[in-house]
Amino acid sequence: MSLEPETGKMQRGRKALQLWRGVTAAQALFLLVWYSGLLPAAWVEQVFSRGWYRIMLLFLPRLSGWSSYSLFIFLIPLALLALAGVSVWIWRRSAPYPPIRRSGAVLSIWLLVSINTVFCFVVVWGGGYQRTPLKVRLALDGVQPAPGELMRIAETALQMVRDHAEPAVGRDRNAAIAAIARRMAELTAGWDGRALVLPVYVKRTPPGVFLVNGTAGMCSPFTLEAQVDGGLPDAAFVGVASHELAHLAGNCPEDEASLVGYLAGLEADHPFARYAVALRLFQDIAGNLPRADRDRLHEALPGVAKDDIRLAREAGRRYRIAAARKVSQRAYNQYLKSQGVESGLKNYGEVTTLFVQAWRKGLAPAIAPMQPAAGGVAAAN
Ligand SMILES: [Zn+2]
Repeated sequence: MSLEPETGKMQRGRKALQLWRGVTAAQALFLLVWYSGLLPAAWVEQVFSRGWYRIMLLFLPRLSGWSSYSLFIFLIPLALLALAGVSVWIWRRSAPYPPIRRSGAVLSIWLLVSINTVFCFVVVWGGGYQRTPLKVRLALDGVQPAPGELMRIAETALQMVRDHAEPAVGRDRNAAIAAIARRMAELTAGWDGRALVLPVYVKRTPPGVFLVNGTAGMCSPFTLEAQVDGGLPDAAFVGVASHELAHLAGNCPEDEASLVGYLAGLEADHPFARYAVALRLFQDIAGNLPRADRDRLHEALPGVAKDDIRLAREAGRRYRIAAARKVSQRAYNQYLKSQGVESGLKNYGEVTTLFVQAWRKGLAPAIAPMQPAAGGVAAAN
């Protein structure tokens, strides 16, 4: 950048920059092919999700797992600071040139870093958005839920909550989360026909880190850490953990992550896991029922479950900042659409349909099937 004659150090710097540009150009080409739609989902399923990603999942959580703190939430501000520092350094180094050329030098570095970031996102985790959808892998019927089916599931989930409700004191959420992770690994291996090594923990972030923008947890696509906001009370924490672990198990869309979290949690070998996940499922399904039915079912919840719902709402209100939530939701909506999830944020709510279809197929044995009506047709009105 300087007008002075090049020193050996500057030559080495220039060569390193050329190498970086070359590697980044190759990454950009890879991304063009990846997002072109030319790669069939079945190929992504076999090569990425059941192959490469399984290897990522073997190693990265072991690296990021050395600390019980979330590395991701420290790395992001650090990376942004580093980028700002490098930008200032380039701006100063290129002082002899006109401002337009100096701006171009800074922007070209931002472009390289952006391509590197998207490349890492795809090869570490995000490639899973292009895999075969879960409803196809599980051969679900695609039929919309009937009101009778929703009622049946809500009532059974309510019964599970009652059966497993224990006093809030003495709950072991770590053991509950480990039981969910173990069942999830078994279920996934059964569906995919290939073993999956899943961490049996999630990381607890400082309170409010996610709640501030209206979310509750996150699966880091760079460090493969499942993280849940430390401001959540126990039951909500375990429920959210089931969703984040399912992301970690390679289910990228929101409805798929919730479904896998439910299926694993309802069968987990731990009463508090089954309680917390049944309560989350109950809220999701009951939310689709008419107001009168919803209120009646809510009234039938045991006192401890009503307290758990109230505490989770209070935690959400305590940390949430409306403006942060609005910005975050807009950005996440665009992000989901950019990854092929056409419904954007509405994808969260689509788990209801997916769950009913999985249940119909017998994939949620904890919830009994509908009784056949006269004539042999299931009473799904
Ligand atoms: Zn999610």
